[in-house]
Amino acid sequence: MRNIVLFGPPGAGKGTQSQKLIDKYGFVHLSTGDLLRAEIAAGTKLGLEAKELMDKGILVPDEVVIGMINNKIKANPDAKGFIFDGFPRTVAQAAALDKMIADNQMKINGMIALVVDEEELTKRLLIRGQTSGRVDDQNEALIRNRVQEYNNKTAPVADFYNQQSKYHAINGIGEIEDIFSQISNLIDTF
Ligand code: AMP
Repeated sequence: MRNIVLFGPPGAGKGTQSQKLIDKYGFVHLSTGDLLRAEIAAGTKLGLEAKELMDKGILVPDEVVIGMINNKIKANPDAKGFIFDGFPRTVAQAAALDKMIADNQMKINGMIALVVDEEELTKRLLIRGQTSGRVDDQNEALIRNRVQEYNNKTAPVADFYNQQSKYHAINGIGEIEDIFSQISNLIDTF
């Protein structure tokens, strides 16, 4: 079993690469963004509360996403491995994930960070906003907010994994297939 954290700012390509990794390795995909959007679509109370924050580009509270991930790990006891996408986004989430993983006799094999600069991210997200229907992709100020949340709260998560010698950076600008083969090569060493 291999468990991977796919890391990077919004628009770095985590979703695209996750899909390809699922096809290749059969991982169970755990994207907190997708899980939250499913709650919104289902009209749950949690979804309604999360939507207010998401539409402003602000992170939802740690306990909300930690609870969701815990449920999904428990619901997939036979998984070949998990790919965590958009989680953990704070150091508190990373610490909680380590605990949940250990409680289930599992470990995180590595964190793979897709590195993309802010100008490129903004450009990509605005293009995605034309088709994704996501409010948070459609407005430049909101996108900058999300990148700022990333810089303030999420970037320190890289140090958390670096201290465990699990941090691996990959240039997220280039051909999707090239980036995918670099990620795959790395995973094959885990
Ligand atoms: P994403 O689809 O990963 O870009 O997430 C969209 C939005 O969902 C983010 O801007 C946050 O408001 C919220 N969100 C997703 N994952 C998390 C997380 N791990 N912690 C806090 N908020 C999250």
